[in-house]
Amino acid sequence: MQNTDVIWENVDRHKSDLIGLSDRVFDIPETLYNEYKSVAEHTAILKEKGFRITENAAGIPTAVLGEAGDEGPVIAILGEFDALPYLSQEPGVAEPSPIEAGGNGHGCGHNLLGAAALLAATAVKDWLDEAGIKARVRYYGCPAEEGGAAKVYMVRDGLFDDVDIAISWHPSTFTAVNRAVSLANTRIDFTFHGKAAHAAAAPELGRSALDAVELMNVGINYMREHMPDGARVHYAYLDAGGAAPNVVPHKATVRQLVRAKDLPELRSLVERVKKIAEGAALMTETRMESKVYSGVSNLVGNRALEEAMQTEMDRLGPIAFDDADRAFAHEIQKTLTKDDIAVSFRRCGMPPPDEGMALCDFVAPLDLPNGGGNGSTDVGDVSWAVPTVQARITTCAVGTVFHTWQTVAQGKVPAAHKGMVYAAKVMAATAKRVIEDPALIANAKAQHAAYLAKTPYVCPLPEGVRPPLVARAAE
Ligand SMILES: [Zn+2]
Repeated sequence: MQNTDVIWENVDRHKSDLIGLSDRVFDIPETLYNEYKSVAEHTAILKEKGFRITENAAGIPTAVLGEAGDEGPVIAILGEFDALPYLSQEPGVAEPSPIEAGGNGHGCGHNLLGAAALLAATAVKDWLDEAGIKARVRYYGCPAEEGGAAKVYMVRDGLFDDVDIAISWHPSTFTAVNRAVSLANTRIDFTFHGKAAHAAAAPELGRSALDAVELMNVGINYMREHMPDGARVHYAYLDAGGAAPNVVPHKATVRQLVRAKDLPELRSLVERVKKIAEGAALMTETRMESKVYSGVSNLVGNRALEEAMQTEMDRLGPIAFDDADRAFAHEIQKTLTKDDIAVSFRRCGMPPPDEGMALCDFVAPLDLPNGGGNGSTDVGDVSWAVPTVQARITTCAVGTVFHTWQTVAQGKVPAAHKGMVYAAKVMAATAKRVIEDPALIANAKAQHAAYLAKTPYVCPLPEGVRPPLVARAAE
């Protein structure tokens, strides 16, 4: 394969700067609206590369936009840079080895995600400049993908209103166009108010808020048998009513995370969960209030864009990993189980590969069966706002489970950098293809409009809900 395509050359020209960005963001892992240093790193590169910058996008201090080009269609390239708590890990080491006990780590590869998206946007910017083409490319630096759903607020704030097409990617254990299957979800906090009393001397005067939470969970357990396939409900106690068993707890809060295959199914499941909460309040003579904490929509696919991205991926061919890359991936695989490896490929829709495959050495075709194991992403809401396509690109060993130390250990090694640069080439080439072919944009938009005509978008966040922003810590 000869890398002679102009857009690939543009990616190669800037790749060392953006690999540097990825590595610096890896070294400063920040979570959930606290990504001040990471967004500053992204903003500095946007400035250096000559983008027009919008800081504090949608009123979120850790969100940034960078735009280049004039007139014409607007192509959004989505990046992320948030990390996860408790996943601090030395890179390049194939055993658990935290840099800082209890510290954050890039357990979902978002250091690579953001840098590759910015690399793709830079390559498209250069091409528009050099070829004198009327179009705009816009990098979206999106914080708080993990549990904060920043993109939902960015959509609600109108940041995608003038966008024609959105493109993104995610680090993975295989290389494919992302199958647009993800679950819509919402986190709702249910607080019960009862009455405190001496639990031995006057229990008849007390009404336990903790009992209400327990009964709510029992009710949900009975509902589970009667939920649609693939729907999920998880819970966490935010306030168990205190640590004194001799006091009847007067207040308790449980967070329910409800997931369903799409927005209409989510809405109907949430209504049932609320009825269970009301029932628990009735049974315990407590008062219940509920508050939505966050919400994201399912992904809406776009066939026209998926085919365009697949063409570009097939043109690029598999990622050229070398023996050293495979040797380290093999060391990581020794820490995984056979099941980890089988599940990783079942999710891709492929049978488990032969034992010897340490890094994915193929490009998966379109239309593989859905192997289950679907999560949720706030890219979902962007995909309801504009036609959207995502790639999944190999950055780590076959079988790696995300949100673990193994992902962090592989976040700054040469194989990860190769996957990151490859992802940028796929996204930049897809953007170029879209810009050069107005019929493709029209087709993608027509497919998107047809889906929304049948299933209108209702933002999963009620009007008054704001992102849980974090103030910048004093230096
Ligand atoms: Zn992720």
